[in-house]
Amino acid sequence: MIHVDEDDPIGEVDPSFPYRDVQIRRGVDMKELYDLQSELGRGKFGTVYRCRERATGLQLAAKVVATPRREDRRNVEREVDVMRQLRHPRLIQLYDAFDNGKVMCVVLELIEGGELFERVIDDDFILTEKSCTVFMRQICEGIEFVHKQNILHLDLKPENILCLTKTGNRIKIIDFGLARKFDPTKKLQVLFGTPEFVAPEVVNFDQIGFGTDMWSVGVICYVLLSGLSPFMGETDIETMANVTIAKYDFDDEVFNEISTEAKDFIQKLLIKEKEGRLTATQCLGHEWLKSQATVALDKTRLKRYVIKKRWIKAVYTIIALRRMGAKLEWDDTNAL
Ligand code: AMP
Repeated sequence: MIHVDEDDPIGEVDPSFPYRDVQIRRGVDMKELYDLQSELGRGKFGTVYRCRERATGLQLAAKVVATPRREDRRNVEREVDVMRQLRHPRLIQLYDAFDNGKVMCVVLELIEGGELFERVIDDDFILTEKSCTVFMRQICEGIEFVHKQNILHLDLKPENILCLTKTGNRIKIIDFGLARKFDPTKKLQVLFGTPEFVAPEVVNFDQIGFGTDMWSVGVICYVLLSGLSPFMGETDIETMANVTIAKYDFDDEVFNEISTEAKDFIQKLLIKEKEGRLTATQCLGHEWLKSQATVALDKTRLKRYVIKKRWIKAVYTIIALRRMGAKLEWDDTNAL
């Protein structure tokens, strides 16, 4: 049985490489330096492969993004630029970056433990409030650092929280593809993200801020504890309508076993006005994060939630592959 280790709740391990000052390399053939191996996952903007640095044998992850348009290249450049500032153990680390014109490649630290939610639904994992706090604390630590650098992640969701190993409790926040540098004196509005996890100000195309990420932290916490998604409707439009009015509750019987401190933590994040939400630093001082509750939580709904997501992802992958044609994908990686 896997549960949180009392003496070493996080299970710290050394990072696989020291922090690096990465500049995007142009005119360098990444395939001479790295072997691309099996596919690890697909995101909105690219495919992530396991890879090995030839000189050192180091195992890494390579995110390959087709960049036919200037805008696509700018997005990857922005992601690299943001990641260069994010040297922190709770955040995915940058190793190298290449620009080959039509295709760009970002080499990252390899994270082998899989998605957090996949891990916790495993029959061997005992989910308790205490184990939830171990994960939520790390998410808040990572986001606190991101916000201290005046950066907003803007795509916080369970898929972007990975476990470092299959047995430890250490997590990392990934995917800074939508992250933005944030100057509180300037207007910043965005129209992207995942409806289930985005804040009301995103749906309303209003000014965003640090609180925008904190809303998503609240939604992740709600789902982790209950397996229910607080704003999920039948359609994206319905979900967004629920988000704009910040309409959610703890009425389901699953919340009978959840502590008032946990509900208070969530309630202080799922506040319509972003200014009213706890900051990451305030979250770290919240009473709930000291919870010692070791009663096993019912994971039935969380399992159902994760399995449903797996199906949706598989369907989207098939649709995307059909649209692009598998050959194009193969050409992308060969074009490197
Ligand atoms: P992304 O486009 O960054 O969201 O990545 C797409 C998917 O690839 C993620 O949902 C993960 O499953 C996987 N992935 C991304 N980065 C890594 C990494 N550094 N190590 C292992 N898997 C990764």
